[in-house]
Amino acid sequence: FEPLVSDFYSYEAELLSDQEREAIAKLRAWLEADVKPIIGGYWERAEFPTQVMKPLADLDVIRFAWDETKPFENSSVFRGFVALELSRVDASVSTFVGVQNGLAAGSISVAGSQEQKDEWLPKLASCEVIGAFGLTEPLSGSDSARGLRTTARREGDEWVLNGQKRWIGNATFSDITIIWAKDEADGQVKGFIVPTSTPGYQATKIEGKISLRPVQNADITLTDVRVPESLRLQNANSFRDTAAVLRATRAEVAWSAVGTAIGAYENALAYTKEREQFGQPIASHQLIQEHLVNSLGNITASLAMVVRASQLQDAGKLRDEHSALAKAYATSRMRETVAWAREACGGNGIVLDHHVARFFADAEALYSYEGTREMNTLIVGRAITGEAAFV
Ligand code: FAD
Repeated sequence: FEPLVSDFYSYEAELLSDQEREAIAKLRAWLEADVKPIIGGYWERAEFPTQVMKPLADLDVIRFAWDETKPFENSSVFRGFVALELSRVDASVSTFVGVQNGLAAGSISVAGSQEQKDEWLPKLASCEVIGAFGLTEPLSGSDSARGLRTTARREGDEWVLNGQKRWIGNATFSDITIIWAKDEADGQVKGFIVPTSTPGYQATKIEGKISLRPVQNADITLTDVRVPESLRLQNANSFRDTAAVLRATRAEVAWSAVGTAIGAYENALAYTKEREQFGQPIASHQLIQEHLVNSLGNITASLAMVVRASQLQDAGKLRDEHSALAKAYATSRMRETVAWAREACGGNGIVLDHHVARFFADAEALYSYEGTREMNTLIVGRAITGEAAFV
């Protein structure tokens, strides 16, 4: 196990067990050998490299068995380092895992019955079934707690779903999509495991993205989609339950932001050591060193915050404002860091060959998804002042 040079204060080496470090080392070796060399092409063609699914499952990356209320072996600190490792090489592959594991399996894990967990979680972990998570809508993003327009109507032992979803990751090839909809009877948000082969379900790829191009985001239309009561998430009774899923995944996106910053920083650092101008490596110029050192400071501060958020999660003490601050802070520092990395590479910072351009572009999606910086700021603002600046 080689510690990351960018883990300046040795968190990884000191917090993970030997077994966990071994798992990280295997994941890193696979990412470097099989993902890094090919991912630029997939990014350019806006295709998802589906061949990564099986190795991800074999590497045991898609571990669903998390429980917010008690510590467990598969700790969130470990899963955080997994998200960091994935994003350090490619944020799209990391996002695939975030959707499959954190959002789809996470919803079932948090809000499903034991029967639903037994049925779906092993299939999601092995990637035999691919999942997606449908919360956002064309007219409802930041206000999805109250603004959802998709409806669910109970008819006997069935539910009838109608509405539209937007931005749903993995949804062009998912086998099931977790659809969040408002119950017409009580107005509460409920969750449904919707097999994508159900009549009335249609997913269309969103084209023309400039960030996370390999991630297949879709617009979904639901027209009288009928699902049995047995596919309603039995413990999702209001938006609070949806929020419990997002609390954990948001903290994990903060980890991905640290990984993305590290990926950009490490590639830029290597470039500045090789590239010579004015007769010497550009790494020897003071202003370049300033960028590199500021980047390392951003990475180190963000890492400290996400490690602590995950420790709180493992202790069952993670609050919404904890993960909101981690997400807002780490993504903001990431955005600065990838811009410095891009700048340090000059013209080569905008071509895919040197990787930095990809991190630079991908940072934009991480900055906005799973709660924008503004919304996460307002969640923290509400917690520290007692005053809600949004409804
Ligand atoms: P809006 O809510 O329209 O916000 C626009 C701007 O207004 C933002 O800057 C926002 O911060 C600001 N704003 C809004 N309200 C306020 C306020 N009260 N005060 C101050 N500022 C405010 N969703 C899913 O359900 N499943 C997925 O798998 C998924 N994957 C995604 C992948 C990508 C690549 C992207 C880009 C998005 C994805 N999303 C997904 C949706 C994502 O969560 C939303 O984009 C995000 O929540 C923001 O919503 P919005 O885009 O509608 O922006």
